[in-house]
Amino acid sequence: MALARTASLRGTCLRLQVGCVIAVNGDVRATGYNGSIPGDVHCIDVGCDMSNGSCVRCVHAEINAICRAARSGVNLIGGIAYVTHEPCRACAYALACTEVKAIYFEKLRESNTRQVSEDRERVQAAMETSGITLSTLPSLT
Ligand SMILES: [Zn+2]
Ligand SMILES: [Zn+2]
Repeated sequence: MALARTASLRGTCLRLQVGCVIAVNGDVRATGYNGSIPGDVHCIDVGCDMSNGSCVRCVHAEINAICRAARSGVNLIGGIAYVTHEPCRACAYALACTEVKAIYFEKLRESNTRQVSEDRERVQAAMETSGITLSTLPSLT
């Protein structure tokens, strides 16, 4: 998780810096942070691109970690994902599709809209059905 926190420092969104590390049998296979697609401008340079209260420019840290693994032909089956923040539904499902066996996160999402709590319930139910552990991991500080 400390490594996920370090990865988050590279996040280029002004709203939140998120980091993700995916390890298989204790070996780090992929890291990611939230940022723009290659070649695009960054929020830290031009400000966030807001829509409905969220910045829509950044690719989430979990997706960036998965894409990095894909670019280098690394599989994540049986791995453990460590994320600094609670994954959104799209990221949790994408991680599940890589066949990681567990997702640990440090901080709950701050916004507690109905959408967030409905998403959380859906994700928890889907992970339980799929046999994937989804749990908070307290800071090891
Ligand atoms: Zn942003
Ligand atoms: Zn996400």
